[in-house]
Amino acid sequence: MNDADDVFAQASLAVAHDEANAFDAVVPPIVQTSLFTFSTYAEMEETYRGLKVRPTYSRGLNPTVRMFEEKLAELEGAEDALGFGSGMAAISSTILTFVKPGDRILCVKHLYPDTYRLNQTLLKRFGISATYVDGRDEDAVAKALPGAALFYMESPTSWTFETHDIRTLAALAKHHGVLTVIDNSWATPVFQRPITMGVDLVLHSASKYLGGHSDVVAGAVAGSKALIGQIRSATLPYLGGKLSPFDAWLLIRGLRTLPIRMKAHEAAALSVARRLAAHDAVESVEHPGLGNQLPDGLTGTSGLFSFVFKPGIDIPAFADKLRLFKLGVSWGGHESLVVPAEVVRKQAAGPNSAIDFGVDPRCVRLHVGLEGADVLWSDLAGAVDFAARSQT
Ligand SMILES: *Cc1c(COP(=O)(O)O)cnc(C)c1O
Repeated sequence: MNDADDVFAQASLAVAHDEANAFDAVVPPIVQTSLFTFSTYAEMEETYRGLKVRPTYSRGLNPTVRMFEEKLAELEGAEDALGFGSGMAAISSTILTFVKPGDRILCVKHLYPDTYRLNQTLLKRFGISATYVDGRDEDAVAKALPGAALFYMESPTSWTFETHDIRTLAALAKHHGVLTVIDNSWATPVFQRPITMGVDLVLHSASKYLGGHSDVVAGAVAGSKALIGQIRSATLPYLGGKLSPFDAWLLIRGLRTLPIRMKAHEAAALSVARRLAAHDAVESVEHPGLGNQLPDGLTGTSGLFSFVFKPGIDIPAFADKLRLFKLGVSWGGHESLVVPAEVVRKQAAGPNSAIDFGVDPRCVRLHVGLEGADVLWSDLAGAVDFAARSQT
């Protein structure tokens, strides 16, 4: 068994295990309730004094949400995890737990655009600054770390899909006493387990692969009991971005097929990416799996990558010609999706959210879904050829 198979087997086990359910139901119940009552004054008092742990109100503890959190913690190799109402709720609550006015957070370049906007708008308003560094340049990271309150990573990065040496970056941060956080939505714990590489906290947009069916917006953070405990007490109760029981139930369902879905996304995306790389109209393909070997710590690749057209290709004509690939943001579900960078850049140039996300205007992002590599390629190749013929 190689490493990748081992991770796959571990992940399958982690998502399969449930505590005993009522009626021996194979699907855990949705405890769809806001509150839980006490049978005696003594029990209520004991619970409020923290002598007994049991649910009282679902913004705090809910059994279905807790079941999702335990599964995710196990998948990530973490002691604990917390579910949130969106990926951004997980990201903002986590950052705000560990910073105060006057602090600086260090981030890798090419963050998820709304994380970047969080830094540039809300955090700035509260006196927290952000600086950006190329995560591939370890000397630059080492120079920028001293004095930072937090080091925020993504690998691969959004849109550009650069990969970083997570183990080395985490060790550098540890050396300087800086807390590390990474957005692991792209790889999922099936293909990358940052906690085992020394990262302190792992964030997810569970709206993507963890849910896997494009029917839930949710988020999560995993890490040590101590750090998760800080988030649970410092920000989660007051920002209130709690995961709902029904969404947790959808995520538990999604997790059951996560390992096989990831393998299918990987195979189809690699097949499409290789064929794109060989196409005359394509300048480059940004996909971490096209080199000779994967970076250390990444055991597989997912379905999201980008490519850059050669000059003169009519991108709107390409987009409109596609039938299976739908025009849409987000990713992680069954359906294949396409987003031209130019559209996102124009949105990003709005008044509050000016963002130079450093992406080529001829860049197009693809999410390769589960429809099958060959039919997807024929859709894509047809549209590329059409757009090349109608060159502007
Ligand atoms: C979608 C996404 C987020 C934000 O998650 P939401 O669930 O939409 O709030 C964060 N990081 C990455 C990489 C994402 O793709």
